[in-house]
Amino acid sequence: MIEMAKKTKLDKVMEVSIRRGFVFPTAEIYGGFAGVYDFGPIGSLLKEKLLKLWTDMFVKSEIDPPVFMVDGAVVLPFPVLKASGHVDHFVDPVVECKDCKEEVRADHLIEEETGQFVEGLDEMELTKIIRDNSINCPSCGGELADVKVFNLMLGTHVGSKRSIAYMRPETAQIMFLDFKRTATSMRQKLPFGIAQIGKSMRNEVSPRKGLIRLREFGQMEIEMFVNPDRINEHPGFEEKENIKLRLLTREEQKKEDTKILEIIAKEAYEKEILPNKFMAYYLALETLFYTKVGIPWEKFRFRHMLPEETPHYSGGNWDLEIELEGGVIEIVGNAYRRDYDLGNHGKHSGVDLSIEDNGKRLIAHVVEPSFGVERSIYCVLEHCFRDKGYDRDWVWFQFPRAIAPIDVEVYPLMKKDGLDTYAWEMYKELKISGFNVLYDDRGSIGRRYARADEIGCPFCITCDYETLREDTVTIRDRDTMNQIRVKAKEVIDILGKLFKEEIKFEEAGELIS
Ligand SMILES: [Zn+2]
Repeated sequence: MIEMAKKTKLDKVMEVSIRRGFVFPTAEIYGGFAGVYDFGPIGSLLKEKLLKLWTDMFVKSEIDPPVFMVDGAVVLPFPVLKASGHVDHFVDPVVECKDCKEEVRADHLIEEETGQFVEGLDEMELTKIIRDNSINCPSCGGELADVKVFNLMLGTHVGSKRSIAYMRPETAQIMFLDFKRTATSMRQKLPFGIAQIGKSMRNEVSPRKGLIRLREFGQMEIEMFVNPDRINEHPGFEEKENIKLRLLTREEQKKEDTKILEIIAKEAYEKEILPNKFMAYYLALETLFYTKVGIPWEKFRFRHMLPEETPHYSGGNWDLEIELEGGVIEIVGNAYRRDYDLGNHGKHSGVDLSIEDNGKRLIAHVVEPSFGVERSIYCVLEHCFRDKGYDRDWVWFQFPRAIAPIDVEVYPLMKKDGLDTYAWEMYKELKISGFNVLYDDRGSIGRRYARADEIGCPFCITCDYETLREDTVTIRDRDTMNQIRVKAKEVIDILGKLFKEEIKFEEAGELIS
């Protein structure tokens, strides 16, 4: 009997995402390029809105301490990444099959086969575990070679001397390199943050299907520079201190039946569950951000990284992890990095990176929240995805209005009798007003609504024969599929209020039964 493999949510989400222009496999006409994706026309708009919301919440609205955005280079010279530790330590253990030559991550393979947690072990130790447990190639069952370590950076050569350089493996180094210039050019005292949104590259051994583990990916990062003596003074904390966090402590991770601690940020800080007030502040702000972009609060938590997962210099790492159908994945890394980065760059460059604070020269400590762009977008897609049969006969996305890629679509009921020119004028007017709008005149209105739902468009406007007589149009709501009739000249005002959530949809016009 042939059993059809059941489609996972990931399969379904990727299918509609590729078909409707959210993402495209890079170089698809040449057979694709593993671990790399392009954002299509709809996905680019979704990404733009997500990035804008992040910038508004984490950069622009931050008053005290302020956060400054920089936009740094993607390619970096060898000494930077030598000083940062990436040249020597940014490695993954890899094992090759002697028969089919496939390479897999040795640590992942061992974890899958034995359940043993092996982070931090060297290649000799990993090889021994593979031999002792007679682990073979997961693809063909063949014998595995010895484990080797593999640097994850994508290297290149620059200039006629072909000097070694690397594509940055994280955006963060730029903020450390720009620390001194930012402090002086902005006449800034501690604490202050430097933020950046941009691409990073990592030569992942086995990139996964979809947007979860990519070789080229976006990051949104902040390095918050703080005087360690004042790391528990954050002027903005009070505003966020009552936000309830979901925490997975180290003690709970040891148990069979792990429980999530639900606790407000203030209490988590006061009970010293979190390392400092800045960390508590960011966990609260991230909780706000991810609920705003459509991830249910009970579907994510902050996990205290175990000692073996935490670098020696760290003062505490808490990862934001989101539950997906296929398991839990890390979306944001929050790290109290102490003076590791500025200390190292000061030492290796010979430039004094200390700063004066309260009459004393010191090396600033760093609290770093680091967000994955594609991973965040994938989580939004999966959590907003509504499968066929959920409440209608087609798949759709229930994006929060603030991040819906297309705000509104405009349709003429028929492509004739002046309905088309009326609708086209409305389309133009909405575009000029700054909305993301699509015009669609093909197929039945029902089919057009279904297509709009597939890209998560919150509202659809139809111009019908009553439009010509009364200067009114209908607006259809994606979530309820209800329709209201409104005056054409009030459409822009009503949509503005709907997006600001100032009015309820059913009260914005005359409800059509
Ligand atoms: Zn094999």
